[in-house]
Amino acid sequence: MKPTVISTWKHGLGANKCASKILSNNGLALDAVEIGVKVTESDIKVRTVGHGGYTDNLGYVTLDASIMDHNDNAGSVLYLQNIKHPISVARRVMENSDHIMLAGDGAYQFAIDQGFKKENILAEQSKKDWIEWKKKKKHDLSSNQNHDTITQLALDQHGNLAGACTTSGLAYKLHGRVGDSPIIGSGLFVDNNIGAAGATGEGEEIIKSVGSFLIVELMAQGYSPLKACEEAIFRIIKKHKNKIKFQVAFIALRKDGEFGAA
Ligand code: ASP
Repeated sequence: MKPTVISTWKHGLGANKCASKILSNNGLALDAVEIGVKVTESDIKVRTVGHGGYTDNLGYVTLDASIMDHNDNAGSVLYLQNIKHPISVARRVMENSDHIMLAGDGAYQFAIDQGFKKENILAEQSKKDWIEWKKKKKHDLSSNQNHDTITQLALDQHGNLAGACTTSGLAYKLHGRVGDSPIIGSGLFVDNNIGAAGATGEGEEIIKSVGSFLIVELMAQGYSPLKACEEAIFRIIKKHKNKIKFQVAFIALRKDGEFGAA
Protein backbone atom coordinates (compact mmCIF):
# COMPACT_ATOMS: atom_id res chain seq x y z
CA MET A 1 0.00 0.00 0.00
CA LYS A 2 1.33 3.45 -0.93
CA PRO A 3 1.41 5.62 2.20
CA THR A 4 -0.61 8.81 1.88
CA VAL A 5 -1.15 11.82 4.13
CA ILE A 6 -3.37 14.86 3.69
CA SER A 7 -4.28 17.78 5.91
CA THR A 8 -6.15 21.05 6.04
CA TRP A 9 -4.65 24.46 5.23
CA LYS A 10 -1.19 25.70 4.40
CA HIS A 11 -0.10 25.24 7.99
CA GLY A 12 -0.54 21.52 7.38
CA LEU A 13 2.41 21.38 4.99
CA GLY A 14 5.01 21.02 7.75
CA ALA A 15 2.80 18.47 9.48
CA ASN A 16 2.46 16.51 6.22
CA LYS A 17 6.21 16.53 5.65
CA CYS A 18 6.80 15.16 9.14
CA ALA A 19 4.04 12.53 8.84
CA SER A 20 5.30 11.46 5.38
CA LYS A 21 8.73 10.76 6.81
CA ILE A 22 7.22 8.50 9.47
CA LEU A 23 5.04 6.70 6.92
CA SER A 24 7.89 6.15 4.46
CA ASN A 25 9.91 4.56 7.27
CA ASN A 26 7.15 1.99 7.61
CA GLY A 27 5.62 3.87 10.58
CA LEU A 28 2.04 3.64 11.73
CA ALA A 29 -0.65 6.04 10.51
CA LEU A 30 -1.55 6.75 14.15
CA ASP A 31 2.00 7.85 15.02
CA ALA A 32 2.23 9.83 11.78
CA VAL A 33 -0.87 11.94 12.49
CA GLU A 34 -0.09 12.52 16.16
CA ILE A 35 3.52 13.56 15.54
CA GLY A 36 2.50 15.36 12.34
CA VAL A 37 -0.04 17.74 13.90
CA LYS A 38 2.30 18.41 16.82
CA VAL A 39 4.45 20.33 14.33
CA THR A 40 1.54 22.76 13.85
CA GLU A 41 0.61 22.78 17.55
CA SER A 42 4.18 23.90 18.34
CA ASP A 43 4.29 26.67 15.77
CA ILE A 44 3.64 29.94 17.55
CA LYS A 45 3.04 31.63 14.18
CA VAL A 46 -0.05 29.49 13.61
CA ARG A 47 -2.73 31.53 15.38
CA THR A 48 -5.49 28.94 15.30
CA VAL A 49 -3.86 25.80 16.68
CA GLY A 50 -2.17 25.09 20.02
CA HIS A 51 0.49 27.37 21.46
CA GLY A 52 0.03 30.86 20.01
CA GLY A 53 -3.67 30.38 19.29
CA TYR A 54 -6.22 33.18 19.60
CA THR A 55 -7.93 33.47 22.97
CA ASP A 56 -11.60 33.19 23.87
CA ASN A 57 -13.62 36.27 24.91
CA LEU A 58 -12.11 36.24 28.41
CA GLY A 59 -8.52 36.01 27.24
CA TYR A 60 -7.91 32.27 27.75
CA VAL A 61 -6.47 29.90 25.14
CA THR A 62 -8.67 26.78 25.28
CA LEU A 63 -7.89 23.82 23.05
CA ASP A 64 -9.94 21.05 21.45
CA ALA A 65 -8.44 17.91 19.85
CA SER A 66 -9.36 14.39 18.75
CA ILE A 67 -7.66 11.31 17.38
CA MET A 68 -8.87 7.98 15.90
CA ASP A 69 -6.97 4.82 15.02
CA HIS A 70 -7.67 1.93 12.63
CA ASN A 71 -9.45 -0.14 15.28
CA ASP A 72 -12.38 2.25 15.87
CA ASN A 73 -10.67 3.65 18.95
CA ALA A 74 -11.10 7.33 19.65
CA GLY A 75 -9.94 9.88 22.18
CA SER A 76 -10.57 13.57 22.60
CA VAL A 77 -10.03 16.55 24.85
CA LEU A 78 -12.28 19.58 25.07
CA TYR A 79 -11.59 22.99 26.47
CA LEU A 80 -8.09 22.04 27.64
CA GLN A 81 -5.88 24.80 29.03
CA ASN A 82 -2.16 25.19 29.77
CA ILE A 83 -1.05 22.08 27.88
CA LYS A 84 1.00 22.45 24.71
CA HIS A 85 0.02 19.25 22.89
CA PRO A 86 -3.70 18.50 23.24
CA ILE A 87 -3.44 15.86 20.50
CA SER A 88 -1.11 13.75 22.65
CA VAL A 89 -3.47 14.06 25.62
CA ALA A 90 -6.31 12.92 23.32
CA ARG A 91 -4.22 9.88 22.38
CA ARG A 92 -3.61 9.10 26.07
CA VAL A 93 -7.36 9.36 26.73
CA MET A 94 -7.84 6.83 23.93
CA GLU A 95 -5.11 4.47 25.09
CA ASN A 96 -4.88 4.94 28.85
CA SER A 97 -8.45 5.56 30.01
CA ASP A 98 -11.82 3.85 29.72
CA HIS A 99 -13.28 7.00 28.18
CA ILE A 100 -13.36 8.85 24.89
CA MET A 101 -13.82 12.49 25.88
CA LEU A 102 -12.35 14.46 28.76
CA ALA A 103 -13.17 18.13 29.26
CA GLY A 104 -11.82 21.19 31.06
CA ASP A 105 -10.25 20.74 34.48
CA GLY A 106 -10.66 16.97 34.31
CA ALA A 107 -8.79 16.81 31.00
CA TYR A 108 -6.08 19.03 32.45
CA GLN A 109 -5.75 16.90 35.60
CA PHE A 110 -5.59 13.74 33.47
CA ALA A 111 -2.81 15.31 31.37
CA ILE A 112 -0.81 16.20 34.48
CA ASP A 113 -1.29 12.67 35.88
CA GLN A 114 -0.02 11.31 32.54
CA GLY A 115 3.18 13.34 32.86
CA PHE A 116 2.39 16.38 30.71
CA LYS A 117 3.79 19.70 31.92
CA LYS A 118 1.74 22.79 32.75
CA GLU A 119 2.84 25.44 30.26
CA ASN A 120 1.85 28.96 29.42
CA ILE A 121 0.42 28.71 25.91
CA LEU A 122 -0.77 32.31 25.75
CA ALA A 123 1.59 34.06 23.33
CA GLU A 124 2.36 37.78 23.78
CA GLN A 125 0.75 38.49 20.41
CA SER A 126 -2.45 36.64 21.37
CA LYS A 127 -2.64 38.70 24.56
CA LYS A 128 -2.15 41.95 22.62
CA ASP A 129 -4.76 40.95 20.04
CA TRP A 130 -7.25 40.11 22.79
CA ILE A 131 -6.75 43.52 24.44
CA GLU A 132 -7.36 45.16 21.04
CA TRP A 133 -10.42 42.99 20.42
CA LYS A 134 -11.87 43.92 23.83
CA LYS A 135 -11.85 47.57 22.86
CA LYS A 136 -13.97 46.97 19.75
CA LYS A 137 -15.61 43.61 20.56
CA LYS A 138 -15.99 43.10 16.86
CA HIS A 139 -14.51 40.37 14.82
CA ASP A 140 -15.09 39.39 11.24
CA LEU A 141 -15.97 35.70 11.45
CA SER A 142 -16.02 35.39 7.68
CA SER A 143 -12.30 36.09 7.60
CA ASN A 144 -10.20 32.97 7.22
CA GLN A 145 -7.67 34.39 9.67
CA ASN A 146 -9.72 33.68 12.77
CA HIS A 147 -10.21 29.97 12.82
CA ASP A 148 -8.39 27.19 11.06
CA THR A 149 -8.04 23.73 12.51
CA ILE A 150 -5.43 21.28 11.39
CA THR A 151 -7.02 17.95 10.57
CA GLN A 152 -4.67 15.31 9.24
CA LEU A 153 -5.55 11.92 7.75
CA ALA A 154 -3.05 9.18 6.96
CA LEU A 155 -2.88 5.76 5.35
CA ASP A 156 0.16 3.65 6.18
CA GLN A 157 2.00 0.85 4.35
CA HIS A 158 0.02 -1.73 6.31
CA GLY A 159 -3.18 -0.32 4.80
CA ASN A 160 -4.37 1.23 8.06
CA LEU A 161 -5.96 4.64 8.44
CA ALA A 162 -5.80 7.17 11.28
CA GLY A 163 -6.78 10.80 11.80
CA ALA A 164 -6.01 13.71 14.12
CA CYS A 165 -7.68 17.07 14.57
CA THR A 166 -6.51 19.95 16.78
CA THR A 167 -7.50 23.60 17.20
CA SER A 168 -7.80 26.61 19.47
CA GLY A 169 -11.26 27.07 17.96
CA LEU A 170 -12.97 30.26 16.89
CA ALA A 171 -11.17 33.43 17.94
CA TYR A 172 -12.93 35.21 20.83
CA LYS A 173 -15.50 32.43 21.18
CA LEU A 174 -17.64 32.54 24.31
CA HIS A 175 -15.76 31.23 27.32
CA GLY A 176 -16.68 27.52 27.56
CA ARG A 177 -17.48 27.06 23.88
CA VAL A 178 -16.45 23.75 22.32
CA GLY A 179 -16.34 23.28 18.56
CA ASP A 180 -16.57 20.30 16.22
CA SER A 181 -12.93 19.26 16.43
CA PRO A 182 -13.16 17.01 19.52
CA ILE A 183 -16.59 15.64 18.57
CA ILE A 184 -16.11 12.22 17.00
CA GLY A 185 -18.08 12.10 13.75
CA SER A 186 -18.16 15.88 13.38
CA GLY A 187 -14.57 17.16 13.23
CA LEU A 188 -13.08 13.71 12.57
CA PHE A 189 -14.15 10.18 11.70
CA VAL A 190 -12.19 7.07 10.71
CA ASP A 191 -13.61 3.73 9.61
CA ASN A 192 -10.72 1.50 8.62
CA ASN A 193 -12.92 -0.52 6.25
CA ILE A 194 -14.01 2.55 4.30
CA GLY A 195 -12.03 5.75 4.81
CA ALA A 196 -11.42 8.79 6.95
CA ALA A 197 -12.72 12.35 6.92
CA GLY A 198 -12.04 15.55 8.82
CA ALA A 199 -13.19 19.12 8.97
CA THR A 200 -12.25 22.73 9.46
CA GLY A 201 -14.38 25.84 9.60
CA GLU A 202 -17.38 27.01 11.58
CA GLY A 203 -17.72 24.24 14.15
CA GLU A 204 -21.40 24.83 14.91
CA GLU A 205 -22.29 24.04 11.29
CA ILE A 206 -20.03 20.99 11.19
CA ILE A 207 -21.57 19.61 14.40
CA LYS A 208 -25.12 20.04 13.07
CA SER A 209 -24.29 18.15 9.88
CA VAL A 210 -22.14 15.47 11.62
CA GLY A 211 -19.98 16.15 8.58
CA SER A 212 -17.07 13.74 8.91
CA PHE A 213 -19.28 10.74 9.68
CA LEU A 214 -21.54 11.72 6.80
CA ILE A 215 -18.61 11.76 4.37
CA VAL A 216 -17.38 8.32 5.45
CA GLU A 217 -20.92 6.99 5.08
CA LEU A 218 -21.20 8.53 1.61
CA MET A 219 -17.91 6.87 0.64
CA ALA A 220 -19.38 3.57 1.90
CA GLN A 221 -22.28 4.15 -0.51
CA GLY A 222 -19.85 4.56 -3.42
CA TYR A 223 -19.22 8.32 -3.50
CA SER A 224 -15.63 9.24 -4.33
CA PRO A 225 -13.80 11.18 -1.58
CA LEU A 226 -14.22 14.38 -3.62
CA LYS A 227 -17.92 13.83 -4.31
CA ALA A 228 -18.56 12.89 -0.67
CA CYS A 229 -16.90 16.13 0.56
CA GLU A 230 -18.87 18.16 -2.00
CA GLU A 231 -22.16 16.53 -0.99
CA ALA A 232 -21.51 17.35 2.68
CA ILE A 233 -20.85 20.99 1.72
CA PHE A 234 -23.94 21.15 -0.55
CA ARG A 235 -26.16 19.91 2.29
CA ILE A 236 -24.91 22.71 4.55
CA ILE A 237 -25.40 25.30 1.81
CA LYS A 238 -28.93 24.01 1.17
CA LYS A 239 -29.89 24.33 4.85
CA HIS A 240 -28.92 27.98 4.70
CA LYS A 241 -30.79 28.55 1.46
CA ASN A 242 -27.51 29.53 -0.22
CA LYS A 243 -26.96 32.47 2.16
CA ILE A 244 -23.64 31.52 3.64
CA LYS A 245 -21.63 33.85 5.85
CA PHE A 246 -19.14 31.31 7.15
CA GLN A 247 -16.52 28.82 6.02
CA VAL A 248 -16.62 25.05 6.21
CA ALA A 249 -14.23 22.62 4.51
CA PHE A 250 -13.80 18.85 4.55
CA ILE A 251 -11.02 16.48 3.54
CA ALA A 252 -11.38 12.74 2.93
CA LEU A 253 -9.05 9.81 2.37
CA ARG A 254 -10.37 6.48 1.17
CA LYS A 255 -9.01 3.07 2.14
CA ASP A 256 -7.42 2.67 -1.33
CA GLY A 257 -5.50 5.97 -1.02
CA GLU A 258 -7.78 8.15 -3.15
CA PHE A 259 -8.45 11.51 -1.52
CA GLY A 260 -10.51 14.64 -2.00
CA ALA A 261 -11.48 17.95 -0.40
CA ALA A 262 -14.18 20.58 -0.74
N1 ASP B 1 -13.64 23.97 13.44
C1 ASP B 1 -12.99 24.87 14.37
C2 ASP B 1 -13.96 25.23 15.47
O1 ASP B 1 -15.10 25.53 15.18
C3 ASP B 1 -12.44 26.09 13.75
C4 ASP B 1 -11.85 25.97 12.37
O2 ASP B 1 -11.46 24.93 11.94
O3 ASP B 1 -11.77 26.94 11.64
O4 ASP B 1 -13.57 25.28 16.61
